[in-house]
Amino acid sequence: MEYFDTHAHYNDEKFDGIVDDVLNRCKNIGVKYVINIGYNIESSIKAIELSNKYKNMYVAIGIHPSDVGKCSVEELEKIYNEYNNGKVVAIGEIGLDYSYTKENKKEQIDLFKTQIELANRLKLPICVHSRDASLDTYLTLKECPAKYGTLMHCFSPTEDLVRLVLENGYMVAFGGNITYKRAKSFSRYMDMIPVEQIVIETDSPYLPPVPLRGTINTSENLPIILEKLSEYKNISKEELSKIVYRNSLEFFNIKEE
Ligand SMILES: [Zn+2]
Repeated sequence: MEYFDTHAHYNDEKFDGIVDDVLNRCKNIGVKYVINIGYNIESSIKAIELSNKYKNMYVAIGIHPSDVGKCSVEELEKIYNEYNNGKVVAIGEIGLDYSYTKENKKEQIDLFKTQIELANRLKLPICVHSRDASLDTYLTLKECPAKYGTLMHCFSPTEDLVRLVLENGYMVAFGGNITYKRAKSFSRYMDMIPVEQIVIETDSPYLPPVPLRGTINTSENLPIILEKLSEYKNISKEELSKIVYRNSLEFFNIKEE
């Protein structure tokens, strides 16, 4: 089977010095593509630089809501122009996160919107992070839609978010979170999301799936996530892997070699 990790942070310092080894192991189990995701200016530059070294690594650049006020979208556009090697395929991860603080909601929403506008100007899709902020995510995306595709990363289905996704044809990415106990609450929504709108991700080095909690997550764990998803969707792993792989190439507009 072939795998596509739509969301990983090989630019995280936990991977310093071991990226070669990790990506080699991933390749051996069939991981063909990885999207390396930035979360501020520095990590976005590092993501692009790493992609110069690894042929099947593509990149998303963006400012995470927890970095609001620390860097500007002008800077992000500047590095797109300066560093772009043709492998920047999305703006992300961007979005809203009210889990740390709700006091800067307005700033977070402004930052989110400005980055959606940047994505629209650059004709790129967006990868969205949304945590404890589903209503405002819904309202912001309604007011300021991304024209070239929207992928909801680390998707935890709720009534509102599933409706948003279905009404607008957004893509959703499931990761290690679907193996956690609390994911049982997802099951009533899983039937509602068509496989044509699903991809998989790891969010490495974070969110390792059960039974690997506490370890550094890598794209090697995609088979565990796929297996869980195939149980939820009641589709064979083989068939599902082909569908989510094709969905990923299409979403990021990558031509397979
Ligand atoms: Zn992430």
